[in-house]
Amino acid sequence: MARITLDHLAHAYKPNPQAPQDYALKEINHVWSQGGAYALLGPSGCGKTTLLNIISGLVRPTRGRILFDDRDVTDLPTEARNIAQVFQFPVVYDTMTVRENLAFPLKNRHVPRDKTAQRVEEIARLLDLTSVLNRKASNLTADMKQKISLGRGLVRPDVAAILFDEPLTVIDPHLKWQLRSTLKEIHRALDITMIYVTHDQTEALTFADKVVVMHDGAVVQTGTPDELFERPAHTFVGHFIGSPGMNILPCRVEGATAYLGNESVALQRGYRSLPGTDRIELGIRPEFVRLQPKGTGLPVRIRRIDDIGRARIARVEMNGRVLAASVPENLSVSGDEAGLHLDPHHIHIYADGHLVAGEAL
Ligand code: ADP
Ligand code: MG
Repeated sequence: MARITLDHLAHAYKPNPQAPQDYALKEINHVWSQGGAYALLGPSGCGKTTLLNIISGLVRPTRGRILFDDRDVTDLPTEARNIAQVFQFPVVYDTMTVRENLAFPLKNRHVPRDKTAQRVEEIARLLDLTSVLNRKASNLTADMKQKISLGRGLVRPDVAAILFDEPLTVIDPHLKWQLRSTLKEIHRALDITMIYVTHDQTEALTFADKVVVMHDGAVVQTGTPDELFERPAHTFVGHFIGSPGMNILPCRVEGATAYLGNESVALQRGYRSLPGTDRIELGIRPEFVRLQPKGTGLPVRIRRIDDIGRARIARVEMNGRVLAASVPENLSVSGDEAGLHLDPHHIHIYADGHLVAGEAL
């Protein structure tokens, strides 16, 4: 196990990178503490696989350093880094049995036979593979093969970290739920640093104690699932996490009042010193925007109401902007005019996408 530090890390696949857009990773400074369960979450193309491959040594970064504890491993090859990696698609030896596949990473490192057998049994039990241990891998489904790949990643007890790159992509949806919580249990049982890459917020939020959110080659926020929900540090995080995501509305702020077009909203804190930018926005999650009877709160026009599981979410229009609001259970809606209440405790102000801390005025 190790603490993993990324120090001014940048990577360009282009031979002569000039502009920031040439970089798949812009400038990453980040520390993963020893033993944690982390998710690396971001949309497709934001640089997650690149970052994982740099940690494992499959890709050499253009700039910056990687440290395992205090040891600089930037120039070490993959084999010398003691990292296990599980990829999106199964990596198994078809000619071997499941048992041989699981034992392979240990055999390769000359772990004694009895220790290997014991560890293989343990991992097979955790992944529910015991009944197929003696079967040839070639006869198994893609689901099963991916479970074997997971097992091969988990089998070495001495690794610095295990990296998972969207490991449930080929797994059947109904099995996904189960495997997700299995991986979480395995993390508790093995106590190894795990970094789990995904573009799926549900997967990230179920697996991880801490989520690292990436956007466009940069880390935009690291936090617990609650922190990402309650206090998105960037409008991208607010929008990307949550379902539906945060409402983000252009506004003007004077002291402790925000102006949304002709309407004004009282804020919990004041903003005396906003940076000089034209992009000031108000962010509030739909959970904290309440639809109420016409004639109360901010006047809005209802576009439609959707049932999402047990909640009702309204799309409403205010000053030409559409936002999502919660519809209280006991509110009967008639006609398309209604009022809106924004909970001031959950309003955030952003300048050029970044959260601005308010102050007591
Ligand atoms: P993610 O895993 O988040 O989907 P990637 O790390 O795969 O993102 O990709 C980040 C960016 O780098 C993308 O713009 C992608 O097109 C580019 N990229 C990834 N791998 C290569 C490669 N081998 N050669 C050139 N460009 C690449
Ligand atoms: Mg990827």
